[in-house]
Amino acid sequence: MTPEEVLGLFRASGALLEGHFELSSGLHSERYFQCAKLLEDPRRAGQLAEALALQLKATAGPEIDLVVGPAIGAVVWAQEMGRALGTRAFFTERSAGEMTLRRGFEVTPGERVLIVEDVVTTGGSAKEALNAIRELGGQIVAVGTILNRSGGNPFADDGTGEGLPLFSLAQARAVAWEQADCPRCAAGDQAVKPGSRPGAGMAAGGGHSA
Ligand code: ZN
Repeated sequence: MTPEEVLGLFRASGALLEGHFELSSGLHSERYFQCAKLLEDPRRAGQLAEALALQLKATAGPEIDLVVGPAIGAVVWAQEMGRALGTRAFFTERSAGEMTLRRGFEVTPGERVLIVEDVVTTGGSAKEALNAIRELGGQIVAVGTILNRSGGNPFADDGTGEGLPLFSLAQARAVAWEQADCPRCAAGDQAVKPGSRPGAGMAAGGGHSA
């Protein structure tokens, strides 16, 4: 599956929103990729996961024992990646602000773990998830996402020797601002959080390119 085909699926499924959005990172942007809409068709979700699994296998990296993603965004994606790779799959979630494992999910020390996220912009939630898994002894081997909006790899080696490869199906760099610098906010427009506002910003498919 080519990056253009993947972006085409975002458009075709109404998952590419145009407007004024507050991303989960807190940054403001005029484009929002609503992966929940992309993944609402289980067959499409399965095809995307198969494509990323192929990419992972082609790198001849270590085998993967487990897939973990941060809730809520990565719950469905983790499940689909686990199915594609033939591994267990579950999610971390916040408890009193702290990313943690609940519901009896367990990591055996030494297990090789793929961290997944639906969209990576700053990689903040995925980093919290991978730190939680590392503390439990899991060995993180890579990060896998549908769409990389970071313009690079937020998980790359920062000098600690703990850098991770980031695999993605497509890239679309986010043009985003801190709220204080956002031109839409400066014009008095209220940003929406698509994750929590049903139907917000449904003017999809415009010609704006970020
Ligand atoms: Zn704004």
